[in-house]
Amino acid sequence: MGNKLRYSFETYAVSGARKGDKSTGAISYPLYLSATFKHNGLNESTGYDYSRLQNPTREEAEKTIALLENGKEALAFSCGMAALTACVHLFKSGDHVILSEDLYGGTFRLFDEVYSVYNIEASFIDTSDINKVKDAIRSNTRGIIIETPSNPLMRVTDIKAISDICKAKNIISIVDNTFLTPYYQRPLELGADIVVHSGTKYLGGHNDVLAGFAISNNEEIIEKLRFMQKSTGAILSPFDSWLLLRGVKTLHIRMDRIQENAIKIAKWLECNKNVEKVYYVGLNNHKGYEVNKEQSSGFGGMISFRVKDKKYVENLLSNLKVISFAESLGGVETLITYPFTQTHSEMPEEIKRKLGIDEYLIRLSIGIENIDDLINDLKSVLE
Ligand SMILES: *Cc1c(COP(=O)(O)O)cnc(C)c1O
Repeated sequence: MGNKLRYSFETYAVSGARKGDKSTGAISYPLYLSATFKHNGLNESTGYDYSRLQNPTREEAEKTIALLENGKEALAFSCGMAALTACVHLFKSGDHVILSEDLYGGTFRLFDEVYSVYNIEASFIDTSDINKVKDAIRSNTRGIIIETPSNPLMRVTDIKAISDICKAKNIISIVDNTFLTPYYQRPLELGADIVVHSGTKYLGGHNDVLAGFAISNNEEIIEKLRFMQKSTGAILSPFDSWLLLRGVKTLHIRMDRIQENAIKIAKWLECNKNVEKVYYVGLNNHKGYEVNKEQSSGFGGMISFRVKDKKYVENLLSNLKVISFAESLGGVETLITYPFTQTHSEMPEEIKRKLGIDEYLIRLSIGIENIDDLINDLKSVLE
């Protein structure tokens, strides 16, 4: 946690930014279901006018996430894609943006199909190779968007190196921090301009809410994002803000248990004779292990692996009893996903094959169930 803050991460996660409601003493920050707010007279406002602009519950979620990411301000959106879309509006027609090549399928589609029409050009490259990033920069490059670890191949990009390049060339650096969460990784402290989250995942943590965040320390960026948030309207609702805040209270203990389970499962998979390769940043033979260790304090709970025979894919997706075959990640439930047709369906097949996102690749989002039950479940279909 940044040295300016008085308390530590866990304490802010539990208390939230305002530590409940001052006027009533409510421990749980209240849910303000009001679309509009009364004015006592001309030019007199309580600070709240209309809930698209400000809502106390959403504000509490924003202030809490800002504290956890050690940023000046956070903005809460209806989902991760809405947060990313607000960031795209920092660019204009004719600008060029560089993105990690194996990233969330929806982010690929946003640039490849939605904003390409408005002449915002995108290059998808392996950002874990800093020389490739340098080579991809053009005179009109205005943004670099990375995911680290990436989705689904867990490639690790050096956040500080990217941020330094961006600072020198007046480029906005954006880090999607969904996978590691601020509990393990705080990109703003490493020099990134913006952190984005799909709060739907670990921050919410219970697969019961969709949410998105953009966090920054840069006043000019915050002002532009705030303007986009109110102008385009994809705000986080008061009830979803409240659910998100409730989820965040246990973020640290969920992440601890998730990681403990993930390390055991990754090691078990590595020893399984029907598994060809395991991608997990917590394995010390993983390509990005050292860089990840340098820039974060944990490995998280996302594991991808490649099976030797397609029959195991069928088995894994149909016959597991504890683990559910479902899209998404970051909840207390362990989920298994097939990136080839699910999370990365938006990506053209030739790109997926080049990256190794094929019929043999499986992704797991580890939850907090009993570890023996999880391993026995996998054992039942992999042996
Ligand atoms: C899920 C996800 C998103 C999109 O978030 P939504 O909340 O589904 O809109 C963006 N980035 C990453 C890394 C994700 O996992």
